[in-house]
Amino acid sequence: MSNNSKCGWLLRCISCGTKWVLEVSFDIRDVKSIYHYCKKCRKNTFHEVLGRAENLNRDVE
Ligand SMILES: [Zn+2]
Repeated sequence: MSNNSKCGWLLRCISCGTKWVLEVSFDIRDVKSIYHYCKKCRKNTFHEVLGRAENLNRDVE
């Protein structure tokens, strides 16, 4: 139960395989794939939603 913390979702770009955390407040657990900008691909790609990321330890550039 961490209602007041930032929630994020672990995504994996199906194009390049990069995993990263999308910080959104809405629930996307039922979303199979999400179309979003990938920093590595530098374009919008489909991402697989791997699950909830409770503790965000992102690699920030
Ligand atoms: Zn990518």
